[in-house]
Amino acid sequence: MPVPLLDVNAQNRPLEQELIEAFTRVLRSGRFILGDEVEAFEAECAAFIGAGHAVSMSSGTDALLAAFMALGIGPGDEVLCPAFTFFATAGCIARTGAVPVFCDVCPVTFNLDLSSATARVTPRTKAIVPVHLFGQAAEMDALRDFAAEYNLQVVEDVAQSIGATYHGCGCGTLGDIGCFSFFPSKNLGGFGDGGLVTTNDAELAEKLRRIRNHGMHPRYYHSSVGANFRMDALQCALLRVKLRHLGDYTTGRVVNANYYIDHLSRMSGVVQAGVAVDSTTARIVLPVASARNRHVWNQFTLRVIGPDQREALKSHLAMQGIGCEIYYPVALHHQECFKHLPAHAIQTCPVSEALTHEVLSIPVYPELSASQRDEVISAIGVWLGV
Ligand SMILES: *Cc1c(COP(=O)(O)O)cnc(C)c1O
Repeated sequence: MPVPLLDVNAQNRPLEQELIEAFTRVLRSGRFILGDEVEAFEAECAAFIGAGHAVSMSSGTDALLAAFMALGIGPGDEVLCPAFTFFATAGCIARTGAVPVFCDVCPVTFNLDLSSATARVTPRTKAIVPVHLFGQAAEMDALRDFAAEYNLQVVEDVAQSIGATYHGCGCGTLGDIGCFSFFPSKNLGGFGDGGLVTTNDAELAEKLRRIRNHGMHPRYYHSSVGANFRMDALQCALLRVKLRHLGDYTTGRVVNANYYIDHLSRMSGVVQAGVAVDSTTARIVLPVASARNRHVWNQFTLRVIGPDQREALKSHLAMQGIGCEIYYPVALHHQECFKHLPAHAIQTCPVSEALTHEVLSIPVYPELSASQRDEVISAIGVWLGV
């Protein structure tokens, strides 16, 4: 049986009747922009995440852009962000006119390494963007101390980590603004684009609501320049159906990830991240969930050690019909569009650079069957020759 990297139909098919009902409700309401469905979805998201306020946005990218606009980030400012993340994190910083300053990441959690940020902070630094990559919170206690010391705003990129917690607190409630995505491959995957920002600051929430709607308040009066960052009422209504199941989806991901860790870690050549990796014996490094975090496993990402080994495993899995993908093949400080940035912004990030040659994400989506999971495990076993 082929094992895709993700199977959105397997998740959506059982919800078909509920989704049709939601569609019909919006169709008959005739209200397609803002309104009750949008407000209800926002209230339900705020409750799920544990945030004071939630404002829906047209995408995760627009959520990030709106967040930087609301915090007044712009030309002359610098914003610290990881070099190893999806492009949007840094693209939105650049779009405000500010400079994204790329920091290295931790090889165990894949998240921002504060010692690298400390080496790059300047008097122009205005904000820092921890990305809770692959479903796990960044090291937020130390990051918040660092942000307080240098008077930086904290924008969390929670696109991959809805429902994740850090010391029991929801990701997206740990900084000034949290930014979420409902792109179909995210843990709460929509039917098109969608996004959300969260904040515990009522004034900031109001600012974000205005920015989302052309900076307009009252109608046809614009005290600041905003944009059209609105999420469709239809998308909100459909996602309200899926949000009710998100807890179960997350449980499915956690079960799959633990099963992988349990079975793969018994194979010779496979080690857990965290111990010093001995590259003469270690061939695959498994991801780990830190005890203080609730990891929601948007991706289950292996590190494959040794020259050309990642490509070899990738083609072996592809030949067995197993979906896998490289997140991410190029570190952001090496992207062509950032090569004109000041040298200080694009300093070398050795861990990020190494990861781009080692990482390989394998299927961990909640609907993966027990036999599909076993197929992935045995295919990796065959490749290792164990
Ligand atoms: C998906 C993603 C985004 C962007 O979200 P979109 O909804 O696709 O615009 C931003 N940051 C990270 C880390 C992401 O994974």
